[in-house]
Amino acid sequence: MRKLWAPWRMDYITREKDENCIFCRAGQEKKDETNYVVLRGKNCLTMLNIFPYNNGHLMIAPYRHLSEIENLRNEEIQELMTTSQLMVKLLKKVMKPEGFNIGINLGRAGGAGIVDHLHLHIVPRWEGDTNYMPVISETKVISQALKQTYRQFKEELSRMGF
Ligand SMILES: [Zn+2]
Repeated sequence: MRKLWAPWRMDYITREKDENCIFCRAGQEKKDETNYVVLRGKNCLTMLNIFPYNNGHLMIAPYRHLSEIENLRNEEIQELMTTSQLMVKLLKKVMKPEGFNIGINLGRAGGAGIVDHLHLHIVPRWEGDTNYMPVISETKVISQALKQTYRQFKEELSRMGF
């Protein structure tokens, strides 16, 4: 069989994982509780944002370290969306939000905190919740809230069969 010369594969292979990236690290490490990973799928993982816009703020990221939405594979796109549905279901059960923000920030100018590894945000919203950040601005309060939220999510997910 003729060997295919594909130099672009090299860039893809070396960029597959980045040790300094929180999504890659959470994907590789087997410390889901410490990393607040609530769910591992086939192509994506879901974790709590430790700098949340709101309590229950989740991020879904493909395992692959990539920044461009055009480079997502169909199965990754599909799983990002089906996981979003599942997480909305979870959030509705646990937190009874009145609305959601779901979105992807691309590029620094687009507001992405982690530019190199694409991720989808799911932020539960309540009427009049814009004052949430000042309330949780104390780190200790955040980490307690995170641990509690993590436990609640894991319990509900296991009840849901995940
Ligand atoms: Zn990464």
